[in-house]
Order: sequence, then C-alpha cells, then structure tokens
Amino acid sequence: MPVPTCPKCGEPVERILDLAYGYWQWDADREKYAHRTCSDRVDVAPWVHDRCMGELRDLHPQNDYSAVPAG
Ligand SMILES: [Zn+2]
Repeated sequence: MPVPTCPKCGEPVERILDLAYGYWQWDADREKYAHRTCSDRVDVAPWVHDRCMGELRDLHPQNDYSAVPAG
C-alpha cells in the first residue's frame, strides 16, 4: 500500500505507534490496570504522526496511583 498521509498535517506517516492495538482498562477487583486488545487486524485507522496526536495523557498505567484521591 502507499504510505498513508496524516489527516491532521497531510504529511506521510512513516512511523506508526502501537497504541491502536490495545489499551489498559482499570480492573476494580484487582485494583490494577489490565491490558486489552482493541483490534485483531493491523490496518487500523486513522494513521497520524505521534506529534499530531492530541489526546495523549500524562498518566501511565503502570505508575502507582494508590495515594491519589479518586474522582
Ligand atoms: Zn501529522
């Protein structure tokens, strides 16, 4: 396939992050995050540059947030 173009900036996307293939879901019973798969295929859209993603958060699921108040 031709290299996809970024829907935000229009430039070719030559590096793909693996974020679309999974996520971490909070498991209240186990009080920790569990990895989940989003898709069983690899051609998941949209293709965007890592620098063009606007929704990344500071949180990392493997950090210890046990002392942070809920809500
Ligand atoms: Zn872009």
